[in-house]
Amino acid sequence: MNTIGGHDTRPLRCAPDSTLEAFYRALIAQHGSPLLVFDKAILRQKFRALQSALPGVELYYAVKAHPDQHIIEVINQLGGGFDVASAGEMDLLLEHKVSGRRTIHTHPIKKDQEIRDALRFGATTFVVDNLHELRKLVPYRSRVGVLLRVSFRSSSAKVDLSKKFGCAPNEVFDLVSNAEALGIHIKGLSFHVGSQCLDASKHVEAINECANLIKTINQGASRPLSVLDIGGGFPADYELTGLDIDAFCAPIRSALASLPSDWHIIAEPGRYLIAPAVTSITTVTGLSRRGGYQWYYLDDGVYGSFSGQIFDHAVYPLQIFKTGAPVASIIAGPTCDSIDVIAEDILMPELEIGDLVMGLQMGAYTAATKTRFNSIPDAKLIVVDSREQSAK
Ligand SMILES: *Cc1c(COP(=O)(O)O)cnc(C)c1O
Repeated sequence: MNTIGGHDTRPLRCAPDSTLEAFYRALIAQHGSPLLVFDKAILRQKFRALQSALPGVELYYAVKAHPDQHIIEVINQLGGGFDVASAGEMDLLLEHKVSGRRTIHTHPIKKDQEIRDALRFGATTFVVDNLHELRKLVPYRSRVGVLLRVSFRSSSAKVDLSKKFGCAPNEVFDLVSNAEALGIHIKGLSFHVGSQCLDASKHVEAINECANLIKTINQGASRPLSVLDIGGGFPADYELTGLDIDAFCAPIRSALASLPSDWHIIAEPGRYLIAPAVTSITTVTGLSRRGGYQWYYLDDGVYGSFSGQIFDHAVYPLQIFKTGAPVASIIAGPTCDSIDVIAEDILMPELEIGDLVMGLQMGAYTAATKTRFNSIPDAKLIVVDSREQSAK
């Protein structure tokens, strides 16, 4: 027997907003429901905010977070670089004539064909974390510069990206001398402390450890290491607390300030940049009263835009345009599978068929992992530019 009491405590915004509702309804009238609405102005704002929070750090957007043409176009216009991991991701960049020089290929494990595809595309920076992978680069050694990925596990990150990839810090020395013997140029070190980090202490720890490793290696080296890639991990504001990226990055700024000024520092943000720029718009298509709960069936769910609730361990804030007495509710997606539930036991004012339910902060690792289960149409991505709208 379930106990009713609102165990899903994600942020839920309940307030009429006739202007916004009319805007979303007009989009649905034109394009259908469900939708993902990408606001270019928010992406531009986040990119600039991160640039100013990390002065001197070159930003490479992690394409896997949301591999969409319109998003790539904005990053390209802002002069950002791209972090890619596959030929498919490079193909997306080709359409915008992004030079391979403005990309880094960060997949530590590659087939020979993938290396050749990346070279043909023009990428020259590759990431490696073991000797097998270094050896694969020998035929191309005159054309590549390598970053060694180091593993730093983080318990505070939502998504661990150092479990599967990265060498232990003490393995770096052997890999550097092996690379030297193979005639491969190691440009520097990289790490990813994990996605959706709740504080910057892991970044700081990893920066300091990498700095020590690089300084030790550079003593008497003929080709000193001079690149440090601090990865991604910068958080999205899923709790809607008004996360301040400048404050989040303050400890990272101080750690970077102590590094030699001729080092080249780069970062690979994905989630922080794109999560807040996309809103999911869904429509209530069915109602039911089951087991003491008010059930709502939406036209998008965990096999679609909300797939990040499964793959990315994310919990997205929701918004409705209604107020009223809170009712213990279950919000489910459109497929016939019972795991297709977006919110279990959430206290929410009552909705009717045809009402809208919005998912906020839904740009990162959402559409990227959607399926076509039950052959239900996926949400169409609609591009808006809120600066242009308000200027009209
Ligand atoms: C996924 C990934 C990123 C992006 O991470 P975020 O936490 O979304 O910023 C960056 N670099 C690499 C190598 C990744 O795999």
